[in-house]
Amino acid sequence: MSITKILLLLFFIWLGWKIYKFYKRYQTVKKILEQSMREQQNPLSIPSALCQCAHCGVHLPEKEAFFDGQTPYCCIEHKRAGSTLS
Ligand SMILES: [Zn+2]
Repeated sequence: MSITKILLLLFFIWLGWKIYKFYKRYQTVKKILEQSMREQQNPLSIPSALCQCAHCGVHLPEKEAFFDGQTPYCCIEHKRAGSTLS
């Protein structure tokens, strides 16, 4: 067996190892992504907190609220108009 063949063999072993490692990492990332997507699709798993618009007093999920610092508003117009409550 010549040195070239040994080097070639080592190269293919190394390449196979690299592909294996990459595949394993891909599987892990895919699993994590699928899990987070499942959690997003199920609204019961993430309880969305309600907040109150500081202008008109309507209740809405925090995710849909427009925040001016700590103050939530139901829409851009009310955010511009500012707080009338309190
Ligand atoms: Zn409002």
